[in-house]
Amino acid sequence: MRREYYCPHCRKLLNPGTLVVFIVEHDQERELVLLAPELGDYSIIYPASFTFELGTLYTFRCPLCRADLSSNLDQRLVDILSLTDDGSPVRVSFSRVFGERATFVFAANGVDEYGEHAERFDALNFFGEAPDRDGD
Ligand SMILES: [Zn+2]
Repeated sequence: MRREYYCPHCRKLLNPGTLVVFIVEHDQERELVLLAPELGDYSIIYPASFTFELGTLYTFRCPLCRADLSSNLDQRLVDILSLTDDGSPVRVSFSRVFGERATFVFAANGVDEYGEHAERFDALNFFGEAPDRDGD
């Protein structure tokens, strides 16, 4: 099934074709970068003039409204929207660090993880507040 992704700011479609389009910035460099839409597929297409460095944090922007898509939950993540089968929006977050393979889908019943480095984010509290606990 084709998965569609949207900018959480302007709500425009980020993958009108096969791939998901972003502006990616680092220092003075800025290029269009295409990512695979399949969760857990970390294929990436970018201009030969752009040099990605492993372990470096990149800024992802919407190609339409140019909003910075960095997550406010964790600065290492990018947040975008996708739609569930019933049409309700779900947050999809992935690492902004080149070479770090970690993607999270925030469904109503929990977080689905993709990528071999997702466990690096285990300490995160994805829902922004502490769960209720019995005892202390
Ligand atoms: Zn946008």
